[in-house]
Amino acid sequence: MKGTQANTKLVEELQQALAKERVTTNETMLEQHSSDESYHTPHLPDIVVFPENVDEVSETVKLASQYDAPVVPYGYGSSLEANVIPEHGGVVIDFGNMNKVLEVRQDDFLVKVQPGVTRSQLEKELKKYGLFFTVDPGADATLGGMAATNASGTTSVKYGIMRDNVRDMEVVLADGTIIHTGSMAAKSSSGYNLNGLFIGSEGTLGCFTELTLKVIGIPEHIMAARAEFSSVDDAVDAVIAIMQAGIPIARVELVDEESIKQMNRYSETDYSEVPTLFLELHGNEPGLKHDIAFMEEIVSDMRCRQIEFETETAGRNKLWEARHNAAYAFIHNHPGRKQMVTDVCVPISELAGAVKDARGAIGESGLSGGIVGHVGDGNYHILLMLDPDNPDDIERANQVNERIVSYALERGGTCTGEHGVGTGKQKYQGREHGEALRVMRRIKQALDPEGLLNPGKIID
Ligand SMILES: Cc1cc2nc3c(=O)[nH]c(=O)nc-3n(C[C@H](O)[C@H](O)[C@H](O)COP(=O)(O)OP(=O)(O)OC[C@H]3O[C@@H](n4cnc5c(N)ncnc54)[C@H](O)[C@@H]3O)c2cc1C
Repeated sequence: MKGTQANTKLVEELQQALAKERVTTNETMLEQHSSDESYHTPHLPDIVVFPENVDEVSETVKLASQYDAPVVPYGYGSSLEANVIPEHGGVVIDFGNMNKVLEVRQDDFLVKVQPGVTRSQLEKELKKYGLFFTVDPGADATLGGMAATNASGTTSVKYGIMRDNVRDMEVVLADGTIIHTGSMAAKSSSGYNLNGLFIGSEGTLGCFTELTLKVIGIPEHIMAARAEFSSVDDAVDAVIAIMQAGIPIARVELVDEESIKQMNRYSETDYSEVPTLFLELHGNEPGLKHDIAFMEEIVSDMRCRQIEFETETAGRNKLWEARHNAAYAFIHNHPGRKQMVTDVCVPISELAGAVKDARGAIGESGLSGGIVGHVGDGNYHILLMLDPDNPDDIERANQVNERIVSYALERGGTCTGEHGVGTGKQKYQGREHGEALRVMRRIKQALDPEGLLNPGKIID
């Protein structure tokens, strides 16, 4: 944006287009929109707007373009790779006011939502219909943000990631044009797959203003369990064996010894402080009985020390709450430290080696950290605690990250399974994509020729 005068003028025009109270340059508000949940350095935007409909989003984008101002869509700010940080200032579009569940199409197993609807809000609404949306990144997040990062989570091993669960999106492009990326049909061979392109685009190709999502019936029976092992290697071997046996596992999460320790302190659980798999199966009663018996057999063959089942909802909720709070447990137990969360994904056959190498990397770094992961997908995270003011800590954490990313890329994996690229994973894009990165650049150039949509993210 060109100077203070232009900023004032843009604010005035935005206030006319939206409403005075929904366009702000208030210092506290700017600060609230300057960071994500990670160790990445915050950066203030110039203006924050709160649109209420697609036309206001379109108008905002058009006005910003006239003033050469970057536009950064903002959901819940829970991302971890600086995806949402307005590195070049400009206008942040906060979708918090576009938070309505528009239509539940029970017979079609579809729901239409505005982008600011949060995962927990949607869960509450769908429960009334006996339905649920399957993608669960643990942290609360908006559906717009989840689509923009192609989020996944504990249940993706069975139900898939955002890309598998979005049928259609309404998107405002860089010039203000409004398009749809798909339809309500279960399948289509018509045209290029724009859903696939825009999902995971991290605000760099357009702003999502409506999403049509696939939902499913709440399973008749749910059974959760904790399986304890003497080593992470045994736990990972058990996951691979469960997957190879074709057991339709709905969640399988690895939590290493150190993470259980932090969890016990934070969530007041008393789990044995050993590498553990948190598991869940969904289905009908007879099918579930059969799957559980088979799974018990497999994990005991894989040297499982003990398996404990949670049949009651309260026990199950406690177990998953503790798992979802693992990152916060580390943060809470390390006051003054920030967290780096790594996020690689490897083919399942490479998982045991990858996790072993990751454990070595944590040990050598001397930093406090643990491993958790959606290991059924081959996706795991290291939660590393660092002092953001100590360059040595940052360097050591970067070395860990670098090492596990290289390990993954050398074995056909990816530098990010679900958190996205932001700026944190930008330096690996060339190595991972090779010539395909040029194709991505051309797509960006075609859709955002001025480079104003979330500039500096994914590709330079
Ligand atoms: C403790 C913790 C655990 C987590 N666990 C997981 C996990 O298991 N799996 C996982 O996938 N992620 C996880 N995350 C990361 C985070 O929750 C996800 O990346 C989430 O999808 C971000 O959603 P958000 O609404 O917070 O988006 P934001 O952080 O606000 O934005 C993320 C990106 O989406 C863009 N964006 C936001 N809204 C729109 C829109 N309407 N249109 C276009 N672009 C938009 C932004 O510009 C930005 O690039 C975790 C985070 C934390 C803090």
